[in-house]
Amino acid sequence: MSWSQVVGQNEAILTLQAAVADAEKLTRGEPGPAMTHAWLITGPPGSGRSLAATTFAASLVCAEGGCGQCQACRTAALGGHPDVYIEIPEGTEILLDHVRPLTQMAAQAPMSALWRVIVIEDADRLNDRAANHLLKSLEEPTPHTVWILCAPSRDDVLPTIVSRTRHVGLRTPDVEDITQMLIQDCGVDETTAKFCARASQGHIGRARALATDPETRERRQQCLRAPLNLRDLPSCVSVAGEVFDAASAVADARADRLDAQEDELLKSRFYAEGVTRLTGAMKRSHDSEAKELAKDQKRRRKRLVVDEVDRVLVDLIGLFRDVLIVQTDAQITLINEELRAQVEQMAAGSSLEQTVRRLEALEHERRVLFAGGSPRTVVEAAMVQIKDPSVHSAHAR
Ligand SMILES: [Zn+2]
Repeated sequence: MSWSQVVGQNEAILTLQAAVADAEKLTRGEPGPAMTHAWLITGPPGSGRSLAATTFAASLVCAEGGCGQCQACRTAALGGHPDVYIEIPEGTEILLDHVRPLTQMAAQAPMSALWRVIVIEDADRLNDRAANHLLKSLEEPTPHTVWILCAPSRDDVLPTIVSRTRHVGLRTPDVEDITQMLIQDCGVDETTAKFCARASQGHIGRARALATDPETRERRQQCLRAPLNLRDLPSCVSVAGEVFDAASAVADARADRLDAQEDELLKSRFYAEGVTRLTGAMKRSHDSEAKELAKDQKRRRKRLVVDEVDRVLVDLIGLFRDVLIVQTDAQITLINEELRAQVEQMAAGSSLEQTVRRLEALEHERRVLFAGGSPRTVVEAAMVQIKDPSVHSAHAR
């Protein structure tokens, strides 16, 4: 975990690094105006806002101000540091019950580091009661507590929260920044890097996966071919099934990897060298943490499926955006330049109005997905509306 992984966000990184430097001064009783106790980090999905938030959190609990190497830096983002807590919401709303333990935590002094850091990913999902409860904690900060809230944009968060936090905005990283990162970090050639950067549409995690995993590239191609295979309703359902299964397989693989890392970390904290069995208070404490961890992991697994299905929708939106570009004869590089033949075929075989409807339908399904709709049903609805774009206008929005 280090700042070099936060791509194309130099300005934001400088702000947060200055805050880390001043945070240290504050603990020595010197002025540190670049630091404050409540932050709001905004940025579109995939721009790296949660990575920026967790790197900032790790830097605040690292003795070196974010060396990227030490135990604190390596474990903070995985929930392995006692002074860093990361709230990852499962559902569409963060409820009062979720926030109350956080404000209790915020009221306590840090255990081992100079700061106690609480990160809320998706602060846009705080419901009103939860947000109001949080406000009190933001208004009357405990000296060594830092809140880091993340959201897509400032408009997504209550104004009262915005006014009590310092804002750091991330932008959508551009194709050039992502290309350079892929060449340096993933060791791919320039052509591949450019393709992956374009195809990711500014989503860093997606760009990395495309660059390093041939299966991800293949599945993306499969998904983009899906519109060609929609002949009738049964074929929509079966194509949707294939696309959904592929997406959830990716999500599961990621979840398995993260779960294994965390399980290992938990084990290493409780089992000393040569110990095979825990007893008494040690066992109770381990079991209760293991139970909590299992709950969090289950939540994350669901969320990763939602994220993957969203990628499918974003890929399809990119494809129909390309169709629109060809249909309107706009002189812009296609996202899917390598699929130009297919895009031109689709453009010739449909009207501009149909393309616009398809794009609207796909955007609508993204909103349904994030409002808690079943991911499988969302993919089915997307396929049906791609097949017949007049369906959507027929049912109420
Ligand atoms: Zn460190």
